[in-house]
Amino acid sequence: MVFVNGKSLNDGSTGLRSTFFTSRSNTPSRQAIALISDHGDPAAEIGKEEAGGQNVYVRQVGEALSKLGWQVDMFTRKANADDPTIVQHNPYCRTIRLSAGPEEFIPRDRLFEYMPQFVEEFQKYQAKHHYPLIHTNYWMSAWVGLEVQKTHNVQLINTYHSLGAVKYEAVPDRPAIADTRLAVEKAILEQAHCTVATSPQEAEMLRSLVSSLGHIEVIPCGTDVSRFHAIPKADARIQLGLNPTDEVMLYVGRFDPRKGIETFVRAAGSIKQNAVDASNLRLVIVGGSDPTKSDGQERQRIEQLVNQLGLADHTTFAGRVGHDLLPLYYTAADVCVIPSHYEPFGLVAIEAMACGTPVVASNVGGLKFSVVSEETGLLVPPQNEVAFATAIERILTDELWARKLRKRACERVQQNFSWTGVAAQLSDLYRRMLAQSIMSDSSSSNQLVISAPPNPDETAASSRKTISTTATTASSKSLTKVS
Ligand code: UDP
Repeated sequence: MVFVNGKSLNDGSTGLRSTFFTSRSNTPSRQAIALISDHGDPAAEIGKEEAGGQNVYVRQVGEALSKLGWQVDMFTRKANADDPTIVQHNPYCRTIRLSAGPEEFIPRDRLFEYMPQFVEEFQKYQAKHHYPLIHTNYWMSAWVGLEVQKTHNVQLINTYHSLGAVKYEAVPDRPAIADTRLAVEKAILEQAHCTVATSPQEAEMLRSLVSSLGHIEVIPCGTDVSRFHAIPKADARIQLGLNPTDEVMLYVGRFDPRKGIETFVRAAGSIKQNAVDASNLRLVIVGGSDPTKSDGQERQRIEQLVNQLGLADHTTFAGRVGHDLLPLYYTAADVCVIPSHYEPFGLVAIEAMACGTPVVASNVGGLKFSVVSEETGLLVPPQNEVAFATAIERILTDELWARKLRKRACERVQQNFSWTGVAAQLSDLYRRMLAQSIMSDSSSSNQLVISAPPNPDETAASSRKTISTTATTASSKSLTKVS
């Protein structure tokens, strides 16, 4: 509820725009906000084609924000006619699937043409709920946000998740959509009220490759530390049917050539070749795939390579594994390998570290931020199988050091990367954005108190901040924001 001089704005007497309070009749005290994730369905099964970090990020952030007192509507495209239109995750957080194009899977490179329809459908909800703040995810959602901004006074925040400027550097054939994507990525950085970079490295990349204009704040990705935490390794191995003496190297993620699984397999091949006794060597590759789609082709290619290198008896393709069982895999592993060619953040790194598993990762993007080389694992040049093999061997052959890495990995995640902490930082950012918006918008000298979101669980001091300031205009107003 928003009050001016002690009066609710809902009585319509103040002249301030209605966008700053929720119009939901069932939950009047919560501020409704919208998260948009065009293709990363927050309610989808994770670990399959095009369902990875973005889905997890939006879902976890959405749910955590709802616990901090916001009313969160997460919008995505309906990619399966059988999926329900609305999935209620808790009373204050839901996924809403908008009909935009055929209700079937459409690869990202062919999705943009349906975005105008997505905007149209979203506007229906916007007209009803008056979201004053929209947090978009990925460039196509950012385009949707920019379109909505043309007709509504909204605070626009964007997280990239992936950057065309980086992606197209690495691919030989740029798709037809490339120029549009690059233009939107520039426009959103310059025109959004804030860009959330998930690592300082991503922020630098945005500055050097996209634009020097626009406001960026670094707020990392997180992980569910109540789910991902260390459990006894021996128990995890028994549950997964792994031998206690196995040397287990784990990959978790999508089958996509840019994830670099080939580098991992080749590194394992050379470790096997150099080993006096390789019988205990085990590769576990976790990730879903569909034989009719591009991830199925990549899995087939990796399987062929595994066979060629004589690793078939040493390799388990575990398929897609849900977050309920993934902690067992991380814990059971001696080392988690993240061989990506590029990674804006890389959730798998912090999930593995949260379970106390050392990480050998490519020295790229957000991995340079989350993994502290020699402290929580090792960073090596991407696509360098020799460097990966050497790093993995160092961890496998030095149990005492590995134990230290395990302990520090776990601590680092708990201190820096919990979803609750991440959501508290986002919540604080949203409040600042809304407060700024009201300040720049109002010309009256009223006292404004935003008494939302009510917050039983919120603990972070940052998100309980009170902003009190006086506008410098002739008819200045003092604005106080309380949670
Ligand atoms: N994931 C999963 N099951 C799988 C494979 C992956 O739940 O079988 C999850 C993984 O736990 C992580 C996400 O998918 O949360 C991958 O995120 P990341 O940022 O590492 O990579 P992206 O998919 O965004 O490239």
